Amino acid sequence: MTHTRPIWAEVSRGRLLHNFRYLRGLAAPDTELLAVVKANAYGHGMAACAAALAGDGCRWFGVTCVEEGVALRLACPDARILIMSGLWHLEAETAIEHRLTPVVWERPHLGWLEAALQRRGLAAAKFPVHLEIDTGMSRQGAAPEDLGSLLDRFGPTSPLRLEAVMTHFHSPENEIATQEQERQLARALEAIAALGLRPEFLSVGSSAAALTEGGSRMAAVARQMGARRMVRPGIALYGYAPGPGAAPDLQPVLAWKTRIVSLREIHPGAVVGYDGTFVAHRKTRLALLPLGYADGLNRLLSNRGSVLVRGRRASIAGRISMDHTVVDVTGIPGIERGDEVVLLGEQGTDRMTADELATATGTIPYEVLCAIAARVPRVMVD
Ligand SMILES: *Cc1c(COP(=O)(O)O)cnc(C)c1O
Repeated sequence: MTHTRPIWAEVSRGRLLHNFRYLRGLAAPDTELLAVVKANAYGHGMAACAAALAGDGCRWFGVTCVEEGVALRLACPDARILIMSGLWHLEAETAIEHRLTPVVWERPHLGWLEAALQRRGLAAAKFPVHLEIDTGMSRQGAAPEDLGSLLDRFGPTSPLRLEAVMTHFHSPENEIATQEQERQLARALEAIAALGLRPEFLSVGSSAAALTEGGSRMAAVARQMGARRMVRPGIALYGYAPGPGAAPDLQPVLAWKTRIVSLREIHPGAVVGYDGTFVAHRKTRLALLPLGYADGLNRLLSNRGSVLVRGRRASIAGRISMDHTVVDVTGIPGIERGDEVVLLGEQGTDRMTADELATATGTIPYEVLCAIAARVPRVMVD
């Protein structure tokens, strides 16, 4: 179906590949870059983004769950796909069927996979899994001191293969916290080596690590254990820095656009939108945008945010509704029905970034991008 509603998100293949190549350039030649495309590639459209990256040599992709993995398998038949949020018992069969690689950290995860492999007659399969170590985030992963009973399950007769050891940093931009997590990881790696297990990858670090890869201690640790480093950038691929501060070498990939669908003029004293929170103090020209919070435009931007139209900023007037947003275009010359409006992206010499919307709504650019609703079509450009 062609899209007829004048709301869309343009996803730039060129910029996505620019960011990927930039990160690849920072990494050591033997480092494997796993592109995190969970949550519909942070709102950018998983299938198209992953296919573009795979076409540029990316071999590994990270998704949240088996359902995302199955969808990605259709787009990328040869890719390695990591299921990063672990496994649920109903997912084991499907993970095996679609050659998805689960992150595991508890005995039930291994049990579900072992049983499903038995049922499928694949007891000798050496099905690969990535073992997550909780080095301090307290979210998922095995505690280093509890590793014994898990590692026992990777013996010579096991249908499973320990392909990678992974961990996740809670404050990747905090050197002291990260060093403490690295110490915990080192304990776990000793226990793994002591049992003679030789994982192929040491999977540590997200965008923050990928952007500072030059000084990484983890590459050296990986080499020492005879493994290769894997790093898992997400947000940086989409052109944003993982924390405060700009990432001037990255290019925002997504532009979110709409059009003016209606114009009106109101007189002083008239109000705009639910609860009449905007009161006109002069003759005011208003433009209607056909989208609202159901499309992912955060309602906290009511009377606070702005959009770009004819290269100028127009402020949001009144409450954002579910499907409508009104902007004040008083004094912007030449405004017409059909004018393109930029919610995220560039127009003229100005631009709106997810960082700016995040600051205005008390969140992070990740959430701004993920919040763009499924009903907004993603269109890949250049
Ligand atoms: C989401 C996620 C990443 C990517 O994080 P960014 O900050 O977006 O780079 C990496 N690893 C794991 C386990 C994740 O869940």
